Amino acid sequence: MRIRVLGCSGGIGIGRRTTSLLLDDDILIDAGTGVGELALDELKRVDHVFLTHSHLDHLAALPFMLDTVGASRSRPVILHAQPVTLAAFEAHIFNNVIWPDFTRIPTPEKPFLNYEPLPVGSEASLGRRRIRSVPVKHAVPAVGYLVSGPGGSIAFSGDMTANDDFWQALNACADLKHVIVETSFLDADEELARVSRHLCPSMLAGELRKLKPGPQVHITHLQPGYEDGIMAEIARHLPDNTPRRLMHGEVIEI
Ligand SMILES: [Zn+2]
Ligand SMILES: [Zn+2]
Repeated sequence: MRIRVLGCSGGIGIGRRTTSLLLDDDILIDAGTGVGELALDELKRVDHVFLTHSHLDHLAALPFMLDTVGASRSRPVILHAQPVTLAAFEAHIFNNVIWPDFTRIPTPEKPFLNYEPLPVGSEASLGRRRIRSVPVKHAVPAVGYLVSGPGGSIAFSGDMTANDDFWQALNACADLKHVIVETSFLDADEELARVSRHLCPSMLAGELRKLKPGPQVHITHLQPGYEDGIMAEIARHLPDNTPRRLMHGEVIEI
């Protein structure tokens, strides 16, 4: 199992793309602007998209991806998310105002996209990969994902603030190898992190105390321009076991 980091920034600009992870060559976890890093042939191979939540930085490229590859694919892309997230997508993106409703185009019988509701806590099996949605707390209904394959498991927080459910699910996983967790803001912006339901380094340190030792921790979703400062604060809070910064373009293989 292989995860390629297409986007891991809190914003855009040269070298920065918003959240998207490519699992093997056929599954996207979130579809932020990082999806634009894929070549046309790679875009055509994406059969499944799993969304963590309805915020634009996690789904902005999906309408463009479908527009780009829909006509040249033989089957619909499947969009997996909890029902409330799919409803938000349908109401606010594929509403025939912001973008055409690709669940009915070119025909309702053979559309470019199908929805597949994935209730919180449930699991999708795709070949030898299992993708479990894990509850987290954020400004809108949101989940993380626990991705498992023959070589072990990788967890991804999506966007989240302090909570216990995510860590309980991870601690119940016997073969967890990697955890990708957000830290959006500096400690000076803790109030902003709390009201926007994200994490800052001091909050991250508290969260990681809930995680059983073992997995490599990677930090994602850093605010553009403050990446070094956020990582320095994390190192001060966690001097003995400092997480590493997830990097654009890197590949994690297990
Ligand atoms: Zn968000
Ligand atoms: Zn986000």
